[in-house]
Amino acid sequence: MDRWHNRVAVISGASSGIGAACARLLVAAGLQVVGLARRTDRLEQLRQSLPAEQRPRFHQHKCDVSQELQVDNAFEWIEKELGGIDVLINNAGIVLGGQLIDMPNKDISNILQTNLMGSIYCTKLAAGSMRRRQVAGHLIFVNSTAGVAGYKPDPADESLNAYTPSKFALTAVQEICRQELITQGLKIKTTSINPGWVATEIVPDETKARLGEVILQADDVAQAVLYALSTPPHTQVEQITLRAVGEY
Ligand code: NDP
Repeated sequence: MDRWHNRVAVISGASSGIGAACARLLVAAGLQVVGLARRTDRLEQLRQSLPAEQRPRFHQHKCDVSQELQVDNAFEWIEKELGGIDVLINNAGIVLGGQLIDMPNKDISNILQTNLMGSIYCTKLAAGSMRRRQVAGHLIFVNSTAGVAGYKPDPADESLNAYTPSKFALTAVQEICRQELITQGLKIKTTSINPGWVATEIVPDETKARLGEVILQADDVAQAVLYALSTPPHTQVEQITLRAVGEY
């Protein structure tokens, strides 16, 4: 991880769960981390919870990634304050209940706008920053097993409606970015991390109760992100699928 020392990592959705766990690990590994989220109180709580000597490496900015202008403003702020972006972790995501065929279109739009368009807005600006400065950066997508298999783990689960299409599309975004970056002669890596169930706020309590101990922790996913970042400059981990042992 030495080559990332003091380099700038932007994490969308850093106010809880996997994003917060990634922020903790990357700050501890010596990176400058910018956490983006809507809940600034939770970003501040995260900052306060860091060891005092690491705290100056955590920066926060209020940003709703579904709003293009807010993403533009956040990335402009990062360029000005920290000089550019070396790592992007596209992690912000939402789940809304209901079945796709019955859901209000505004809920479907909200899911796609956050999970897909939010990641696209951030990816374009981060890749632009890396290209402008000719840095060998890394674009990471916190995707899902739902984004590669489109499965419905339980007939009673009504949360995968538009979530699955949003994550499937992210798989395509990562692959197309990988190809475009090569054609542009850029040494920017892309990685998708595809977790199964993780014990975070996005998962309903009934689902957590049903899964019992067969569930990942946010830190397990953050460790996979760290692994993807730690491979030698000439190797690229493209997909990591991570499930708790015993998860169907
Ligand atoms: P959390 O609910 O704990 O975290 C979601 C994060 O996304 C929060 O920090 C939230 O911040 C942020 N977020 C949501 N909407 C927006 C928005 N419009 N703008 C900015 N930030 C936003 O759940 P997880 O940590 O589990 O989720 C992180 C990612 O992991 C998601 O993409 C999710 O799809 C994915 N994932 C989760 C799995 C699980 O079982 N938990 C399994 C597979 C993938 P705030 O509300 O403050 O804006």
